[in-house]
Amino acid sequence: MKPTTVRDFFKQFPDDDACLLHLFNVRFGQGHECPKCKRAAKWYRLESELAFSCQWCGHHVHPMVGSIFEKSRTPLQLWFYAVFLFTTTRHGVSGKELQRQLGVTYKTAWRMAAKIREHMAAVDGEKPIGGEGKTVEIDETMVGGKRKGKRGRGAAGKTVVLGMMEKDGDVVTKVVPNVRRATLEPIITENVKPETEIHTDELKSYNELAKQGYDHKTVNHSAGEYATEDGVTVNSMENFWRHLKCSIKGTHISVSPKYLERYAKEFEYRFNRRMRPETMMTELLTRFPELDA
Ligand SMILES: [Zn+2]
Repeated sequence: MKPTTVRDFFKQFPDDDACLLHLFNVRFGQGHECPKCKRAAKWYRLESELAFSCQWCGHHVHPMVGSIFEKSRTPLQLWFYAVFLFTTTRHGVSGKELQRQLGVTYKTAWRMAAKIREHMAAVDGEKPIGGEGKTVEIDETMVGGKRKGKRGRGAAGKTVVLGMMEKDGDVVTKVVPNVRRATLEPIITENVKPETEIHTDELKSYNELAKQGYDHKTVNHSAGEYATEDGVTVNSMENFWRHLKCSIKGTHISVSPKYLERYAKEFEYRFNRRMRPETMMTELLTRFPELDA
């Protein structure tokens, strides 16, 4: 499958009506049982509002309700186009960029971007990674803030992000308040299945992972080692951090700690689909897991 081009986008979504019909089809569809009269119904598009009406009892369903598009005065096609932009970038989409491309105010653009990132996180989900016979690299990094002295891993003003990445598989990121063992260990046991071979650097907080039922191996960074002879490394995780930081710097200049997790999740979403980027737009406009929450 070829990547989605802007031409494909406008072919599939030529106007707001096509977008609303698409939402109706993926959420309800013709023959959908009417929630009011409980009969399989034919649904008719209403002229007067963004809704469809039951052939039997006239009950209305609103395809946008509950979705990230609800309560927005921004036309649906612009929303869809914004989603498309998020799937075609490698370095993220800034509020300024959306403002320029969509012709909306900065405030609107910023809000849309925030909603789309939340949606990407919801679609990506939180399935645990690893398991018997699998290898997971775990590493933490600090983003933003000013470098204050050489206090190493506790430097002030920075946000700590923990990352867990299965070899040739998915990454999971979490913003964490600190790198203490009591903080990191429960997050790891929640997101990485038992019996996984875990690779970390020599940070003491990881010292007792073996007691949690993992096969824990370390690479000794302070000794200038980046991979041991038997292949213990956190290089893939570090590459992910490099890409994330470089993109934040280039696209957003800086990101406040409060919003960092959203940005990390945006990159997580794209990374986890790196082998099938052409599926991203359809997936984001078809799956709405937040509606079931
Ligand atoms: Zn009905």
